[in-house]
Amino acid sequence: MDTQKLWQEALQIIRVSISQANYSTWFSKTHITTLKVLPNNRQFVEIGCSSSFIADGLEKRYFSLIQDSLNQVTQITNDISFIVSQLTIESNSNFLPPLFSESYNDAHSANILELLKRARIRPGFTFENFAVSSSNQMAWAAAEAVSKNLGNAYNPLFLWGGVGVGKTHLMLSIGNKALSKNPDLKVLYCMGEEFTTEIVEAIRNKSTQNFKKRYRNLDLLMVDDVQFIAGKEKVQEEFFHTFNTIQREGGQVVLTSDRPPTEIQKLEERLRSRFEAGLIIDISPPDLELRAAIALIKAEERGLQLPMDVAHIIASNIEGLRRIEGFLTRILTEVQGDSSLITAELVNRLLGRSANEGEPGLNRRAMAPQDVVDAVANYFSLGRRKLLGDGRARPIALPRQVLMYLLRVELGLPLQEVGHIVGGRDHTTVMYAVEKISKNISTDPSLREDILGIKRTISGQM
Ligand code: ADP
Ligand code: MG
Repeated sequence: MDTQKLWQEALQIIRVSISQANYSTWFSKTHITTLKVLPNNRQFVEIGCSSSFIADGLEKRYFSLIQDSLNQVTQITNDISFIVSQLTIESNSNFLPPLFSESYNDAHSANILELLKRARIRPGFTFENFAVSSSNQMAWAAAEAVSKNLGNAYNPLFLWGGVGVGKTHLMLSIGNKALSKNPDLKVLYCMGEEFTTEIVEAIRNKSTQNFKKRYRNLDLLMVDDVQFIAGKEKVQEEFFHTFNTIQREGGQVVLTSDRPPTEIQKLEERLRSRFEAGLIIDISPPDLELRAAIALIKAEERGLQLPMDVAHIIASNIEGLRRIEGFLTRILTEVQGDSSLITAELVNRLLGRSANEGEPGLNRRAMAPQDVVDAVANYFSLGRRKLLGDGRARPIALPRQVLMYLLRVELGLPLQEVGHIVGGRDHTTVMYAVEKISKNISTDPSLREDILGIKRTISGQM
């Protein structure tokens, strides 16, 4: 499939999802300017728009729709970005025209991909690329257990948590794992909304038999964002019977929701009690460390190598995982796939650091390390000698670690140099301090306050 054909197919999907007027306003002069195959079943798509007004509008209003449509056509994950470009199709030798990367030619993976497609599972979301930390450890362990022992471990498995904490990723991992272990399994992933639409359609077209056949004899049914079925009587009834039939036949049900069963309004009592009969686990938002780890994984999937300090800068400035991914796409566009161009400098610039989220940023060039030392000493009412000396008591050790953290993460100084400034310490000591503070900053509000306070005093001086 060539790029223009791909875009035509995506546009078909988009066309039926929005009004004709909106379609012609926003999409009529769009085209794909760049398509780049990335590792791990992903690709980067740049969409050319006739003006910056259109480019901004598409990004704000239709980002997910465009991405979903492309994902649907290609069955792989698309990272998208918009650019102002008139409709002249250039051939850019940097970018590979074929839609599918080599693995697609491989008969085995093509087969698995076909199976995944039939199960509506997007490839690329697996246990292997899921990072685990305290916030999601339980959910991960339960999901793994379920994938290895369908119908027996925890049934249903009910995962809940806020937006972007990894519920869908874990759910898809279960499906991926189960199918790759046993390709004969009947597996289906669907979103709560999809399930709802299909039932409504089936009832309207008097084709509920087909619906039952598709859903009721599954070995594994996954319903993502199941809260959507609440309040819809017929849908809940059908779901109840589907659920029971699958379980009775030894199949597994996995559900996700943005809240626990007890808090889903207008959920039928019998469904609630079914949900509660299994294992219910919540996933909390990722801490700083986990966000940094995920940034590294997501960058690698896009063929980018992030330096560790850059991953930390991103993780400490952007909370949402989806926004982190969006930011990585920006980096990708900026460096055109050349990882050696990714520096703390560049990332800070892209973050528009000092204006970001009300957190004062430190201007690297204007900031002398010694000023940071003074600011930390003043803030904690310690003398420089004490701060940089050998004392190990907590009232001194903590400020010292904060100092190392600021020098490393905010000023981007090399570990050795930080060690040198802070009383001639070893680089491993610095590394430990940076890791510790980075980790605690997301869980310890008073530490966060301290660091913000110090940053404020420093930026106030400039
Ligand atoms: P949810 O369904 O909870 O809203 P998603 O599963 O869609 O969240 O996760 C949002 C993005 O963050 C996805 O790209 C997903 O791959 C990624 N993500 C979330 N948690 C992790 C994790 N622990 N490791 C790797 N990627 C993660
Ligand atoms: Mg989800």
